[in-house]
Amino acid sequence: METMENKSILEELLIKKSQQKKKISPNNYKERLFVLTKTSLSYYEYDKEKKGHRKGLIDIKKIRCAETVNVEEHTPPERQHPFQIVYKGGLLYVFTADEESRIRWLEALHKEIKDNTELLNKYHKGFFSSGKFLCCNQTCKAAPGCTVWEKYSSPHGASSAVKPLPSIPGELKREKSFLKEALAVYNYEPKGNSDVHLVRKKKYYVLKDEDPDWWKVRDLEGNEGFVPRAYLKEIHHTTGESGESSNAANVTSEEEENITKYDWYVGSISRAQVGQLLRQKGKEGAFMVRNSSHVGKYTVSVLSMTGRDKKGTVKHYHVHVNSANQFYLAENYCFSSVPKLIHYHQHNSAGMVTRLRHAVSTKANKVPSTAHLGNGPWELKREEIALLKEIGSGQFGVVQMGKWKGKYDVAVKMIKEGSMSEDEFIEEAETMMRLNHPKLVKLYGVCTKAYPIYLVAEYMVNGCLLSYLKGHGKELHPFQLVEMCFHVCEAMAFLESHQFIHRDLAARNCLVDADLTIKVSDFGMTRYVLDDLYVSSLGTKFPVKWAAPEVFHYAKFSSKSDVWAFGILMWEVFTLGKQPYNLYHNAQVIEKVSHGYRLYRPQLASEEIYQIMYSCWHEVPENRPTFHHLLSCLEPHREDDKP
Ligand code: ADP
Repeated sequence: METMENKSILEELLIKKSQQKKKISPNNYKERLFVLTKTSLSYYEYDKEKKGHRKGLIDIKKIRCAETVNVEEHTPPERQHPFQIVYKGGLLYVFTADEESRIRWLEALHKEIKDNTELLNKYHKGFFSSGKFLCCNQTCKAAPGCTVWEKYSSPHGASSAVKPLPSIPGELKREKSFLKEALAVYNYEPKGNSDVHLVRKKKYYVLKDEDPDWWKVRDLEGNEGFVPRAYLKEIHHTTGESGESSNAANVTSEEEENITKYDWYVGSISRAQVGQLLRQKGKEGAFMVRNSSHVGKYTVSVLSMTGRDKKGTVKHYHVHVNSANQFYLAENYCFSSVPKLIHYHQHNSAGMVTRLRHAVSTKANKVPSTAHLGNGPWELKREEIALLKEIGSGQFGVVQMGKWKGKYDVAVKMIKEGSMSEDEFIEEAETMMRLNHPKLVKLYGVCTKAYPIYLVAEYMVNGCLLSYLKGHGKELHPFQLVEMCFHVCEAMAFLESHQFIHRDLAARNCLVDADLTIKVSDFGMTRYVLDDLYVSSLGTKFPVKWAAPEVFHYAKFSSKSDVWAFGILMWEVFTLGKQPYNLYHNAQVIEKVSHGYRLYRPQLASEEIYQIMYSCWHEVPENRPTFHHLLSCLEPHREDDKP
């Protein structure tokens, strides 16, 4: 008897590609009679116009995607109209005789699967063939899709049959169990096929948490894999909360007290830095809260993109306190705490140019400054360092970003054998690790017990200053350029006061932090470089263009030769990363500079700023200013942050 359930919706003779469940099984194509019902898609042998044995069945509920596939090159005419069915446990390719038939099948399938709970929102446009997807080269058949499945993402499109993925966590929870939920605190790019991408602020289901460093998670699309534990923050549901996930920005009573916990709180950073960070974000309503220049007060800075300036305008609002000790920006909306006030304005502009939409954070997971107080040991345990991604390569080899103790961001220089005089470095390393200054890149420790030796340093998320200038220079306000030079000068004044000579100061050896603070790196490191071309002033890699005349003539380094290099660095900053003396090669530079030739004034540098850099290039070292003096020269050119 035919019931509604097993009544055939569509029946047609189609070509089916072998599923290649085993790697070695050959590619073959067979004609099968496909039958679609409310509950299943089955296919049968078909011979001499007779339906034969059933050869396969897919449960409708298990289907996660039905969509076309791109035709491969050199495909015979009878296989020009393929579609794919992605289901739990497999991937099936079917070929219809013509386009009409393909549309008919896909529409019918979409109608039947529309209420399935685990529909994909990404799929593969290409075939899985000879062990990989032709669209993205992923080699795992279950690899997450690489193309957005429009049917899913545009429910108002031509075929609106497919319902979007459930956004309510409860639904997936019912589907499959998990230990707990977590929010990604950072983005994470997976390295292998099986890993999951982490997207900051998105939610993940934790499936395994035994390993202290790597947790197995499932994302909302159902992809599973291992991710660094340190990139996740557990979500704690307070009892009585409805199934809704806790939002990172939600204010709970315990958190209210401490403003420093919030992503949007950036501490004391200059107005110019704030402006740059917000413009870099470039989104309407990008905001942050910082300490005002009045002690104990706060300023809310927000970007508005509606004005005439394409880069947006930054507005600064002071947080006022009324007689009842309540906080407000606009008179009528008063709150008992700053987080409550911010939370309110995240949803209501109420007198501001825009509501506070995107918190711009400068938070980084730095090793707390207390972690290394006391005397050594500076030797870190290699096992405690997880290397996560390559971020550059330098004189000594590859530099990787990593996590120390599963928590703290670190940069790890892996010393290529033969590139460094290691014994000498290790003897001196302790001195360098004791040089602590907020504008020096902190050296946390070393791993010297095995090769390659690691130098573990503070991780600077915005990379090297030279690249930053080239990439973002155009967005920078001249005040910001002064600020960058000032930071470097602070670090150098500190080194100067410790009679420590840098020897290789240049924009390429400074790094940019999350809040755009510039820090000086690689101080004193050239002393350990074993590459003669770099060390000897006759060598082709020697940084002649940063070198004072007494350096390229007599290799006489001093804090005053660092001052010369600082002048060149200022020039790099104000030209947004140009190569100094770009028309000349090293020998010509030596010749020219020895005869009194100097770099020209960059367009962005005022006459006064040019005078400061120019003073660094006095032929006689003693007549150059000290860094200490340079600080007072730069100070009047910094942005006045008084309200
Ligand atoms: P070296 O001075 O040994 O030749 P660098 O220190 O210049 O090498 O490092 C090479 C690149 O690696 C830099 O340009 C930068 O992009 C990246 N890098 C180095 N150290 C860090 C760090 N502490 N934080 C972030 N990126 C870094």
